[in-house]
Amino acid sequence: MAEPNSRFLKVKCNDCSNEQVIFGSASQKVSCLVCGRTLAEPTGGKSTITTHILEVLE
Ligand SMILES: [Zn+2]
Repeated sequence: MAEPNSRFLKVKCNDCSNEQVIFGSASQKVSCLVCGRTLAEPTGGKSTITTHILEVLE
């Protein structure tokens, strides 16, 4: 069952330009695999994306 925020997002790291696919409702902090910058952090069940979103993957 899909929730509105349970989508995958393709994001681009603001620091190193690494592109990475992350889950839109991650319950844990998501870090860039290359440089370790925080890309998303959990806020009350949703994710706050702290970098550039390239695409929302339905
Ligand atoms: Zn990075």
